[in-house]
Amino acid sequence: MRVYEKRLDISKHVADLQKQNKTIGFVPTMGALHRGHLALVQKALSENQVVIVNIFVNPTQFNNSEDLVNYPRTLETDIKLLSNVSSEIIVFTPSAKEVYGAQVESITYDFKGLEREMEGKYRPGHFDGVGTVLKHLFTIVTPTRAYFGEKDFQQLQIVKQLVVIEKMAVKIIGCPIYREESGLALSSRNKRLNQKQLSESPLIYKILKQVKEDFGTKSVTTLNKWVSEQFENNDTLELEYFEIAKTSNLKSIKRKQENIKYRAFIAVFAGEVRLIDNIALN
Ligand code: AMP
Repeated sequence: MRVYEKRLDISKHVADLQKQNKTIGFVPTMGALHRGHLALVQKALSENQVVIVNIFVNPTQFNNSEDLVNYPRTLETDIKLLSNVSSEIIVFTPSAKEVYGAQVESITYDFKGLEREMEGKYRPGHFDGVGTVLKHLFTIVTPTRAYFGEKDFQQLQIVKQLVVIEKMAVKIIGCPIYREESGLALSSRNKRLNQKQLSESPLIYKILKQVKEDFGTKSVTTLNKWVSEQFENNDTLELEYFEIAKTSNLKSIKRKQENIKYRAFIAVFAGEVRLIDNIALN
C-alpha cells in the first residue's frame, strides 16, 4: 500500500498514471474511516483503474476550533482498513502546508447561494473551506471521478458547482447514505458519542422517515412543528435546524408544489457532537 505525505511525491506518481491514460477515482475524507467511507472507496474501485483516498482534517472548513481539536484522528487504523479493502489503494495524507503552502486560508466562493442555506447559515465559512481544499486536492490528484456521500448532501451540490466555477474536468459522483442497522447515519463524529447519546441518536432518522411518510398528506408547517416537538422533551438531543427544501437549490419552503423534488435536512446536537442527516421526500 502506497502512502504519500508530500505533494511532489504524489504528483510524480499521478503524472505516471496520466502517461498510461489510467482513470483515477478520488475519495476525499477527513479520516476516522467507517463503512460509509469504505462504500465510497468500493464504488471508486469498481469504476476506475486507480483509487486515491485522501485523509486530511482540513482546518479551514471548521468554524468551531474545539470541533477541530476534538475531531477523531486514527490514521494507522484507517490505513489498515483501506489495505484490507485493497492493497492497490493509494493514500494521500498531507499536512496543511503541503495542501495550502504557507498561507492556510480559504478562497471566498459564490456557489449561487447554495453556500448560504442550512450548513452555510450555521457554519459560517465552512463551504469556502471545503471548496478551497478540494480545489487544491483536485489540482494535485487530477482525478477522473471524485466520490462524495449524500450524507453531506449540501456539500455534494456545492462540489458540483465548484468544478464548474474552477473549470475542472473531474466528474462528481454522489453515493447513498450508509446507516447503522438502527438507522443512525455513519459519521466519524459518532465515535465521540457516549452510550446514552448513541442509543438516542437513531431518533434522528426515525423522524426523517416519519416526515417522508407524512409529506404527501401534511403541510410543511405542520411537519416543521411536529419535528420541533419531538426534541422538546429530549434531554440528550437538541435540534439545531430542520428544513424541508427544494433539492435543486436547497431553499427551504413553506408550501410544496407539484412536480418539484424536495428533501428534508436536519442538524442535531448530542452534547458537543453535531450530527446531520437528510432524506429524499419524493
Ligand atoms: P468526512 O470524512 O466526514 O469528510 O467524509 C468524507 C466523505 O464520506 C464525504 O463525501 C461524506 O459525505 C462521505 N460520508 C461520510 N459519512 C457517510 C455515510 N454515512 N454514508 C455515505 N457517505 C458518507
